[in-house]
Amino acid sequence: MITVDEALAVISAACAPRGSEFVPLAESLGRVLARAVTSDVDWPPFDTSAMDGYGLRVEDLAGSAGSLAERTRPAAAGDAPGAPLSRGETVRVMTGAPLPEGADTVVPVEDSMPESGRVSFRATPSKGDHVRRRGESIAAGSELLPAGRRLDARGIALAALAGAEPVFVHRRPRVAVAVTGSELVPAERRPGPGQLRDSNGPMLLALCRSRGVPAASRLPVSDDENAVRALFAKAGDDEDVLVTSGGVSAGDFDLLPPAAERAGFEILFHGVAMRPGKPVVFARRGAALWFGLPGNPVSSAVCFRLFVRRALDALEGDASPGPRLLPARLGRAVSVRGKRETDRDAVLDRSGPETSIVPLEGRGSHDLGAHARADALLRIPAGVERLEEGDEVSYLALEG
Ligand code: AMP
Ligand code: MG
Repeated sequence: MITVDEALAVISAACAPRGSEFVPLAESLGRVLARAVTSDVDWPPFDTSAMDGYGLRVEDLAGSAGSLAERTRPAAAGDAPGAPLSRGETVRVMTGAPLPEGADTVVPVEDSMPESGRVSFRATPSKGDHVRRRGESIAAGSELLPAGRRLDARGIALAALAGAEPVFVHRRPRVAVAVTGSELVPAERRPGPGQLRDSNGPMLLALCRSRGVPAASRLPVSDDENAVRALFAKAGDDEDVLVTSGGVSAGDFDLLPPAAERAGFEILFHGVAMRPGKPVVFARRGAALWFGLPGNPVSSAVCFRLFVRRALDALEGDASPGPRLLPARLGRAVSVRGKRETDRDAVLDRSGPETSIVPLEGRGSHDLGAHARADALLRIPAGVERLEEGDEVSYLALEG
């Protein structure tokens, strides 16, 4: 059986971006750049005032007993730069207004005393005060965002500044979700004897959508050879990734892996040394990818957050694909069952200087109640039998 890291490497190797497109910046939140964004302008684009005040040449103050002649026309944001500043002249400038050539300093309006065409100042400024120099933040031609960066609000602001409208991004992968199991009924039905409601289907769709990935729901599949065959016959027709739940462990009705192979899928892994989630399958047929997640709800969730998440990020060309593990201190000692790498539902406490994490007393991979109370998965490495309070550990945040 392979390890979680080995499984992630297999997924990364099998998943690359599948095309790119231009989208309006207004619709680009969460998309991954297919090409670097380079600025075609300096930022600031011209010397400008950071305050409402008076623009002046600081050396003129010495020669004029601190009083300067006020230019009649003030400079406002959006004005073209006025004529160069004459000797002994000052100009009223608003925040963001271009400074005329020669103005090297701005004195805030609060420190000014204008009187009949002349202005004197309460404070002695230093050269450069309250002036934003052209290009001091960004020089034209410099790369602002690399390809592979996922756009957030800050990235979108930079892209707009650089004129990257529309912006060139990788295509989003499309996902189809199918639940399998003859015991399942939809959420709106009351389960009969031996039945239970499908919670994985809605959960897996939500996990896709909270990443902005379009996901469609397939009809539920019963534990029946024909139904499973039909599922794989159509796999990849309308999606890049088929995600199923159930039917991948060693039970008599765990029909999916052999059916997938008969349908021409190459199994890239089946079984990962982890708890929960051990029976997980990853396979491919041509461009179609299939993740077979175990049916137990917490197993399904963990496998999605580790493996499907990696695939979706890699298919989108994300240069730092998930899952992202973060450090924390263990809030209390933990004993571990078995030797497999373990992801346990846990609660974070971020109120102290260091993040502290405490695992929940869940009852196992079916315990959706505990999973819903958790805000993190505590990662316990393979072979660890016990962790002590204060040990440095890592966790995956349960966002979305
Ligand atoms: P399986 O992986 O098919 O053996 O299923 C393992 C356990 O997960 C069984 O107890 C199933 O009833 C349960 N299960 C399977 N699919 C779902 C689902 N879609 N929603 C909730 N529980 C499920
Ligand atoms: Mg089943």
